[in-house]
Amino acid sequence: MVSVKSKSKAILSIFIIIFLCSKGSLNANPQNMSEDKIPNVIIVTLAGLQNSESIDEPYHQYIPNLWNKIFKEGVLYTNLINQSIDFHMPSVIALNAGIAYSFYYNKLTAPAIFQYVRKKYALPANKVWFIGNWFKAQGCCITDEYPNETCVTQMSVSMDILIPPEIKKFLTKQELLFLEKLPKTREQKLYNFPQWNSVEEVHYPLFKKVIKEFKPKLVHYFMADVDSGHHAAFCGYIISLKRSDERIYEIWQMIQSDPFYKDKTYLIVCVDHGRDQYYMNHSGNPFTDSYPVWMYIYGPNIKKGVIINRSIYHVDIFATIANIMNVETHPNKGRVLTDCFQTRDDSAR
Ligand SMILES: [Zn+2]
Repeated sequence: MVSVKSKSKAILSIFIIIFLCSKGSLNANPQNMSEDKIPNVIIVTLAGLQNSESIDEPYHQYIPNLWNKIFKEGVLYTNLINQSIDFHMPSVIALNAGIAYSFYYNKLTAPAIFQYVRKKYALPANKVWFIGNWFKAQGCCITDEYPNETCVTQMSVSMDILIPPEIKKFLTKQELLFLEKLPKTREQKLYNFPQWNSVEEVHYPLFKKVIKEFKPKLVHYFMADVDSGHHAAFCGYIISLKRSDERIYEIWQMIQSDPFYKDKTYLIVCVDHGRDQYYMNHSGNPFTDSYPVWMYIYGPNIKKGVIINRSIYHVDIFATIANIMNVETHPNKGRVLTDCFQTRDDSAR
């Protein structure tokens, strides 16, 4: 005979099972992983930096933090090739979605890495960000399987002005006023704000606020400063480069000091395209004389102080992020950069 006590215990167990099952069906995170167990990835794309002022410059005087401090802690690939037109958007698309287009501008035709990550781990929008230029749908491709709810949160004050409402409560009065007036001042061409180095004076503080307030799991920050090489005097380009080097070092220090990021974050720094030797323009024929650039990766199981000279492509970065975040994506030409990961022998040292 079943006692009243054990009967009520059985009913309670059934309730608990039903509750857990219903919670599971609402939560798309298949492994039901706590956020803490999912790695973080921060990608910084440096726009239009030449190797001749960065890794090939004999004294590395314009990138002292990268060269002397950061590169020693991870893997530097010295031959990153922009497979498509030698321009920003194709390499951003290749990195975001693993697609190598041969045109300046194309809409995504497959979901971006942000969408795979958001869907798999059921992350809210404020955990996945794309900050900087070259939006115009290059961070998201809506399909039946990957609807609007999987898209990245985009923020920019350059080509498109996109300020997500959730960031506004963290802005100062002055910043809010600036953003409110920005469309009008741009329209009236009151000052040269749209130039890339000026744009970064807004993007970088916003990027820092996003990191501080939302603790994103995946963020791609397009740092446009150095692309001022197209229009600025050489010294202006160099000042932008040194400032970018300092900012990347700040990001690096943040990763080391913030418990949310420490020991569970991958930092990827890459360049989107080089320029010709006369330094102002993109290369003449991008398909035949593309200028190689570089990429760096740091993370919990990444080798330290290694330089790899073989050719790699921006689509490989897409594949590598998918591998790190453990998400299945559409078929693509990207190959995981397996040679940056520690082997058992490396980690035993
Ligand atoms: Zn450019």
